[in-house]
Amino acid sequence: MSAQVIDGKAFAADVRGRVAEHVARLKADHDLTPGLAVVLVGEDPASQVYVRSKGKMTVEVGMNSFEHKLDAGTSEKDLLELIGQLNADPSVHGILVQLPLPRHLNEDLVINSIDPAKDVDGFHISNVGLLATGQKSMVPCTPLGCLMMLRNQHGSLSGMDAVVIGRSNIVGKPMAQLLLRDSCTVTIAHSRTKDLAEVVRRADIVVAAVGRPEMVPGDWIKPGATVIDVGINRVDAPEKGEGKTRLVGDCLYESCAEVAGAITPVPGGVGPMTIACLLANTLTACCRENGLAEPEGLTA
Ligand code: NAD
Repeated sequence: MSAQVIDGKAFAADVRGRVAEHVARLKADHDLTPGLAVVLVGEDPASQVYVRSKGKMTVEVGMNSFEHKLDAGTSEKDLLELIGQLNADPSVHGILVQLPLPRHLNEDLVINSIDPAKDVDGFHISNVGLLATGQKSMVPCTPLGCLMMLRNQHGSLSGMDAVVIGRSNIVGKPMAQLLLRDSCTVTIAHSRTKDLAEVVRRADIVVAAVGRPEMVPGDWIKPGATVIDVGINRVDAPEKGEGKTRLVGDCLYESCAEVAGAITPVPGGVGPMTIACLLANTLTACCRENGLAEPEGLTA
């Protein structure tokens, strides 16, 4: 293995530490405490784990955490009413509605009812438009985390060839916009891309956000390229015992690591950065709301 392993866990701990320092200064100098409200509808087990861990880390960096757990049958009207209250609440600077929502709720309608200034997930149509036009916006957490790691690795990304595999609204598209804004030459590949291997071979930066276990092998990777593996896939692991599973990324780790210059592991790469960036976005939202300087190095 020749690639440098990009330690997302350590990087995320560093980001959270910087957020905590800034939060402490806001308290001391301005008597301000950033607040993050997380809304969970229903009892999806994975969502419950995410929400618990977001709440815990929010408190750990010194912010206020407000959790709103609603039952699965909650009506759209009641959910929109709660979001309206959170929009109007000055102690709430960030609002996150945990996705996916139960089927009877219109996700687009719900997300677009959040005040764009408090939309710390960056999914509101206004933030999507602001990002696409290069204006100040709230940036989706996972692509922001990837960007931070890439900037840390390379300094300037200007002129680099970047291939993003996946065109989802939450990862692929915003990732491509951010790389474009940092002056990369960006290709977005997806399920209909012809000869994906050839496309990926051109890339100095590969961001894989597909959701297919180990689909990118090492012989698709240009020697020395940086590989950011966003995928989180649970696969059977009979070697660990009957019924056991393990997490793998979208890249075949060992073979990509033979060729790449740097690579993020799964787990321990992009994953921890996502929550760290959620906290960074909440801090940014609080600073903007109060007309204060934004935290340096924690925004796009
Ligand atoms: P998605 O299902 O919304 O999008 C997947 C994309 O992959 C689509 O745009 C599709 O065109 C593309 N695709 C599908 N098959 C393909 C193929 N054979 N070749 C090329 N492209 C193909 O998924 P998503 O929400 O963007 O998530 C992608 C992965 O990232 C998932 O594994 C998800 O769990 C993970 N994820 C991780 C984090 C994190 O914090 N690390 C956050 C969000 C998503």
